[in-house]
Amino acid sequence: MKKDFEVLLVEDSRTQALKFQLMLESHGYHVTVAQNGLEAMNMLLNSQTSIVISDWVMPEMDGSELCRAIRKHDFGNYLYIILLTAKDSKNDIIEGLEAGADDYLTKPVDDAELIARLTTAERIIRLESSLKQRNKEIALLSITDPLTQVFNRGYLNENLPKAFKRAIRYSQRLAIIICDIDHFKTVNDEHGHQAGDIVLKSFVTALNNALRKDLDWMARYGGEEFIFVLPETDLTGAHAAAERFRSTIAGLVTPFEGNDLAITASFGIAAIDQEGDKSHLTTDDLIKAADRCLYKAKELGRNKCIGTSI
Ligand code: GH3
Ligand code: MG
Ligand code: MG
Ligand code: MG
Repeated sequence: MKKDFEVLLVEDSRTQALKFQLMLESHGYHVTVAQNGLEAMNMLLNSQTSIVISDWVMPEMDGSELCRAIRKHDFGNYLYIILLTAKDSKNDIIEGLEAGADDYLTKPVDDAELIARLTTAERIIRLESSLKQRNKEIALLSITDPLTQVFNRGYLNENLPKAFKRAIRYSQRLAIIICDIDHFKTVNDEHGHQAGDIVLKSFVTALNNALRKDLDWMARYGGEEFIFVLPETDLTGAHAAAERFRSTIAGLVTPFEGNDLAITASFGIAAIDQEGDKSHLTTDDLIKAADRCLYKAKELGRNKCIGTSI
């Protein structure tokens, strides 16, 4: 089939259905046929159809009822509906459009006109799908840090409180690790800002690979500071993760213009312990506790992990 579009033809008269089917197939459409609205709904749930051409008068569920049923349901993609009707009073047409039809044709249908209307349908569907794709890209961009491609501060601000509330409500474990690269300013000072950017990227790549996939996530908190969110993790577990991150970074070298750039990082850990009532705690308490530990790790000479429970 040369067309990308699957058409579902809903028509209770077998002879009419066959006539339309042959005509549409001769124009390259892939056509399936349903004999009434109910059958059509069932087929739509299991197909890639994007265009529905439906007769109006049918037993069980008629064309306008089918339109309403389709519009109520989220198929993930837009379904373009053309109603075929022997009715051509203004009120009927208004009823069909109000029920959710995009277009209508009065019977007897002129083949060339139906094909022309289908071309319009294809244009609308392509437009809708490119808009949807673009919206997805924009949504992803809005939560991504452009330099390192991890989640940005906005994503963190929205999702850490959610994870925190869930943990408190269901008495689940949750830990965070705040990480700050040691003496990062000297990388910029000695090798330039571009070198700093490259080190930041390789730092993130290394830690992303060291994360427990699917469950833990990291976000850029600020310049050379990152937060790791570890659901279902207690202080001991978070300490082990932070230690793994610390040694990963201590062993990382980033080549830049003939030099091997090496860095270390300090880690502050805070976990919600399972003792007592936690309902008074906030996300901010967790971040502050981790931040205090990070400060201690820096004070104790950097390249260290310090943790606490709250
Ligand atoms: P400390 O061990 O106390 O953390 O020392 P530091 O030098 O890492 O800390 P400081 O806060 O003094 O400096 C952070 C540096 O990180 C300064 C800033 O220019 C640099 N930085 C922040 N974001 C970026 C970035 O996106 N790219 C580059 N190249 N540098 C960045
Ligand atoms: Mg009929
Ligand atoms: Mg810093
Ligand atoms: Mg730093």
